[in-house]
Amino acid sequence: MSGKMPNLLFCLWNQFVVFRYSCGPFISHSFPSISKVVLSMSASNEVILSGIRPTGRLHYGNYFGAIHHFLKLQEGDATCFYFIADYHALTTITERKDIYRQTLDMLRTYVACGLDPARSVVYRQSDLPCTAELSLLLGMITNIGHLERGTTYKDKFGKLQDDPRTTGNPLSYGLLGYPVLMAADILIVKADVVPVGDDQRQHVEMACDIAEKFNHRFGCEALHRPKAVGREALRLPGLDGSAKMGKSDNNTLDLLDDPKTVLKKIKSVVTSTEPLPLDTDSKDPEVVVPKLPGGLNVLYQLLHLTAPDEVFQDFLEQYRTGGKFYGNLKKTVAEHVSKFNEPIIERFNDPAINDDFIEDFLRDNAKKVTPVALDTVEGCREAMGIGRSLYRA
Ligand code: ATP
Ligand code: MG
Repeated sequence: MSGKMPNLLFCLWNQFVVFRYSCGPFISHSFPSISKVVLSMSASNEVILSGIRPTGRLHYGNYFGAIHHFLKLQEGDATCFYFIADYHALTTITERKDIYRQTLDMLRTYVACGLDPARSVVYRQSDLPCTAELSLLLGMITNIGHLERGTTYKDKFGKLQDDPRTTGNPLSYGLLGYPVLMAADILIVKADVVPVGDDQRQHVEMACDIAEKFNHRFGCEALHRPKAVGREALRLPGLDGSAKMGKSDNNTLDLLDDPKTVLKKIKSVVTSTEPLPLDTDSKDPEVVVPKLPGGLNVLYQLLHLTAPDEVFQDFLEQYRTGGKFYGNLKKTVAEHVSKFNEPIIERFNDPAINDDFIEDFLRDNAKKVTPVALDTVEGCREAMGIGRSLYRA
């Protein structure tokens, strides 16, 4: 089976897509270090795949860990598949929520950020139900001990246990099997590159392991192994000082936050530690930020991501000199963040980006991703010996 044939077909297909929404570039900053990461990740004709769960509003971790890369990659020759992971949302949303509504709003934010559903194949995970079939097949060769050692699983399980809204035992088969479903998401489109934040690195490694094990066990090349996530992948800390900003953790700075909310959130970041000597003379934000105490690290990281470098260097100098400048630092971070959010909020509220618009491209794009996905699933069925489907609705 040629894994690259369908990819080629998709590239051609993309050129014939008539439906198009012109987004126009609006991102005013360049992010040299992050762009470097993206360029090293992708070459022409590669297949890119990434997803985001509709568990809340998009935040700065989502943007700089994932969406920023999506935007860069859609400018090149790669075939980009970006999906909203609504099946995955069900692993931690325990009470009934309108996940479909959240999905549409998240897609509006995607488009507001500059994602072009004509250049990238943007779809909803549950519109590709054969992903669930592949997940079932992959589950047959996945060791439970391997899943139990997953750091995200342990973290999410702990949080669900502590959540007062949780009733009964929060350990579901779905939560434990999250990495298997994620492996199915990645492998079903034969992805080469998976642009995700550092928190998802282990899951991508699991997908690589599962692909390798499957091919070895069944003596086939049915699954294409993606590249591992680079060490440079970002992990943005939470505004509460915790290691990760997360939609489900109530510690986020959101892309749709208005200036008043931004200022309130930034002011609430705890910065009780006086400046301490840094054990480096480096001016490189990537070297310096991790050495800063909790709270200050997220403020400096946000400054690095949204403000020109001279502003970052100025505040770094003030940190090294010592003194009382945290109030001014917070005000400056809030200003740059609000400036960054402004065009996104404006586009989010554009009446043209309505539910009909979103549903139209979801329908079109689900049709585009389905053939390559079915090709993978049928290949796996054949490799495992159950044979191809005699009837596929
Ligand atoms: P949840 O808390 O519901 O799991 P989340 O904020 O972790 O939500 P996901 O939908 O799980 O977001 O992840 C979407 C993408 O955003 C992934 O590529 C993930 O690596 C990235 N991402 C999420 N949080 C961060 C973060 N704090 N820093 C960098 N990347 C992040
Ligand atoms: Mg997450």
